[in-house]
Amino acid sequence: MTSTSAITIARGDGIGPEIMAATLEILTAAGAKLQIEEIEIGEKVYKRGVMSGIDDSAWESLNRTKCFLKAPITTPQGGGFKSLNVTVRKSMGLFANIRPCVSYHPFVRTTQPIMDMIIVRENEEDLYAGIEHQQTDNVVQCLKLISSTGSERIVRYAFEYARTQGRRKVTCISKDNIMKLTDGLFHKTFDRVAKEYSDIETSHMIVDIGAAKIAAAPHLFDVIVTENLYGDILSDIAAEVSGSVGLCGSSNIGKNGAMFEAIHGSAPDIAGQGIANPSGLLNAAVMMLQHLGQNEVAAKIYNAWLKTIEDGVHTGDVYAPMVSSSRANTAEFTQAVIARLGQEPRTLKAARAVDGKTNTRPAMPVINLPVRGDKKLEGVDVFIHWREGKVELLAAALNALNTDLKLASIDSRGLLVWPDAAALAEDSDHWRCRFKAEGTATHAAIIDLLQKINAAKLDFVKTEHLYSFDGTRAYTVAQGQ
Ligand code: NAD
Repeated sequence: MTSTSAITIARGDGIGPEIMAATLEILTAAGAKLQIEEIEIGEKVYKRGVMSGIDDSAWESLNRTKCFLKAPITTPQGGGFKSLNVTVRKSMGLFANIRPCVSYHPFVRTTQPIMDMIIVRENEEDLYAGIEHQQTDNVVQCLKLISSTGSERIVRYAFEYARTQGRRKVTCISKDNIMKLTDGLFHKTFDRVAKEYSDIETSHMIVDIGAAKIAAAPHLFDVIVTENLYGDILSDIAAEVSGSVGLCGSSNIGKNGAMFEAIHGSAPDIAGQGIANPSGLLNAAVMMLQHLGQNEVAAKIYNAWLKTIEDGVHTGDVYAPMVSSSRANTAEFTQAVIARLGQEPRTLKAARAVDGKTNTRPAMPVINLPVRGDKKLEGVDVFIHWREGKVELLAAALNALNTDLKLASIDSRGLLVWPDAAALAEDSDHWRCRFKAEGTATHAAIIDLLQKINAAKLDFVKTEHLYSFDGTRAYTVAQGQ
């Protein structure tokens, strides 16, 4: 017998309170064993001057229950407010975003009748670290950071998820034909970890063709694992194609807890009218019940909800004259689901509760730092802000410096311009000047180089060390080199 689980809920803004009330009514009617604590988040909290949109006292509850069912909030524009989602994600260590995208054809309109995929998105690193700098008048940069530990954690989680949910295939999506080190690490990690899951079929796709296939042939996919930015884009494409943006829930799984929410926002345009569709939050709650081990209640609710959709009881956002039998408001839809608890869908695939003894919560991966490699310093890239004429003049000035590290090449945003120009370089003010040592470089030699660059009144805006690890070059070369 399952025991009662403590959870924290927040009713949020806009339609949030309406869809949360509907969801809780269905959970209660289905017999979910929950001890509910309530916290306040969003607009009211922001308006009290709490820049994160969540009070310190709310954390006491979240730290205790480690399980958060969250209704959407309205994000205030401008004014230095911090994103509540980012704060919660960081504090709870939510490294995985899980979004099922399912087609409910022919009961919900979609261009793709066969679609039942889960997107597992890395949630903590990649370009979303938000490390950006302006370096010159002309150039800004955003750092893409991918770690071995972060990649292994999400990839292992995806395989564990596939196993516990009875899924057969995991597809890795990256762009390692272009980003050979960052996306290369993600892809290599996938290949390495995949060897431990020989019961699961694997494949890899480059993100551009992957996105096209999700849109045009989603039946090819089962579980997808991908990096943060690609996951953000792909999960929206998938939800849109499934025709069920308003029906999608998602879970965010972390080291210090888990958060469950609908993928849509607070829909202020229809707030207070009692017509919002509670399905997104309800499906998130179904994921929460699975996470809590209450699989039978989860399946009971999901099947009743499928039957409601099949019977054509649809809220206004899903309503279509040929497929819907009635246009329900939130309360009518909620009662329709409750009335069908214990029933199963006839056409759509029913959920099967996994045997109560089987744990459907994927194991939390324990990841160690990679073994220390044999790291050798070979040189340095010095990025220089310079707009004083032809690049040959810059090369001459740098060659005139009496340093141990010698100028090897100059490129402009990755395109070689000196000593041989790969193509006619556009005017720029941002030059990556690569200096190499004859043998091993030293930090002292780099400092000496920078001092001499400074003395020559050249404006260096960034440096990046060039290393090899275990004898393999661990930096890319410019296009044309
Ligand atoms: P939205 O998802 O709230 O609404 C887009 C459209 O879909 C609207 O026409 C709305 O009426 C409709 N819609 C959304 N959910 C619905 C539902 N359950 N039933 C019926 N119709 C529904 O997106 P938006 O208008 O761009 O954003 C509104 C606010 O929500 C913004 O402040 C935004 O920042 C916030 N937001 C919050 C979250 C979150 O808390 N996780 C996510 C996205 C957006």
